[in-house]
Amino acid sequence: MVMRIGRTLPPAASPLHLENIVFGVAGFFKGAGIVERFEDELKAFYQVKYSFTVSSGKAALVLILQALHEIHPERDEVLIPAYTCYSVPSAIVRAGFKVRLCDMVPGTLDFDFDRIVEELENPRLLCVIPTHLFGMTADVERVKSLIRRGDIFVLEDAAQAMGGEWDGKKTGTLGDVGLFSMGCGKAFSTVEGGIILTDNDRIGRILEKRLAAIKGYGNFGCLKLFLQAVALSVLINPKIYWLPKSLPFLKLGETHFNPSFPIRRLSSFQAGMAKKWKSAITKLKAVRLVNANKIAGYGITLPGGCRGAIPNLIRFPVLVADAETKKWILNKSEKMGLGISDGYPDSIDGINELWDFPGGNAFPVAKDIAERMVALPVHSFVNDNDIRDIVQLFQERSYVEK
Ligand SMILES: *Cc1c(COP(=O)(O)O)cnc(C)c1O
Repeated sequence: MVMRIGRTLPPAASPLHLENIVFGVAGFFKGAGIVERFEDELKAFYQVKYSFTVSSGKAALVLILQALHEIHPERDEVLIPAYTCYSVPSAIVRAGFKVRLCDMVPGTLDFDFDRIVEELENPRLLCVIPTHLFGMTADVERVKSLIRRGDIFVLEDAAQAMGGEWDGKKTGTLGDVGLFSMGCGKAFSTVEGGIILTDNDRIGRILEKRLAAIKGYGNFGCLKLFLQAVALSVLINPKIYWLPKSLPFLKLGETHFNPSFPIRRLSSFQAGMAKKWKSAITKLKAVRLVNANKIAGYGITLPGGCRGAIPNLIRFPVLVADAETKKWILNKSEKMGLGISDGYPDSIDGINELWDFPGGNAFPVAKDIAERMVALPVHSFVNDNDIRDIVQLFQERSYVEK
């Protein structure tokens, strides 16, 4: 570990302002009506019949999977990309189901659609989870078109893509049911939080019933959220961020497989913090897009190239030449405080706790992505000097695959 004192960019940031905290406190005192209003606004904006707000994206995933299982009790396997956030297998295991993996297309972050066909024949398959990694839009329509059995659900993991669009449609509404995360490093944040959207009556009604039985945060839980919000609003600033980053017990930016986490309904404090969510997302998105375009303007390309416009990224993913180059870039970034981050530590088949017989190399493309992926910051604290420094690193060490 290199210890750095001085301006340090966080890898991703949806800044919390004093205003959000004030709205949060006001929301807390107004009570449950605020949560209902937030859910109604979501339904109206996303044009769906059902929206539910919970404590995290993971919690949203567990609740959705359990609801789908209630419709098809004979099905208990869930298909995900072999390279994704560790929260996804954590939630599948928590819900009591089995993880199945599909490899990706080399150089992209989406499913290998030739391979997925075979997986979709699996009679135990409950659902498939196309995922917009880093905000790069996955081809949900293509997954849908490949499903021949009408009873496999498409669960759209838009945890990192709140505010995104695909072909004129809003991400989060492309599958049978979708989810967003409002965790710290996501597109929009309420400290923690998750959103479920669906237009499907069967899924919606089951979720309605299940959500009614789930508890909220309570006063103590809200106090803790308030303190976290205050801490985050200060610490996320690059002038201060080096401090929490240098404290190992905070485990900032670490990713773990962990199926034990709370499942709660969103609190009125969080719904209050989200009061101006639509304009906040629009602003955050615009800033990230400008920065992503500047990076792309220097000739740094997104995995898979980019069909059309740069998508709504929360970090700018780059595949570098090899594991050595990645190590070199991360090390330099650490010393210079540039906020370049690792993707996820390994492909999902590398999580030993998940498998009875770990090992092998059945998902070489996902493994390769895990080895070569770095993610560049594009959030509102990133300035032109930072971008120049970041780009210079990439030029210094020719990063492109030979
Ligand atoms: C963050 C994330 C989740 C989980 O969201 P939390 O709110 O952190 O629980 C799920 N899927 C993906 C792809 C994510 O990035």
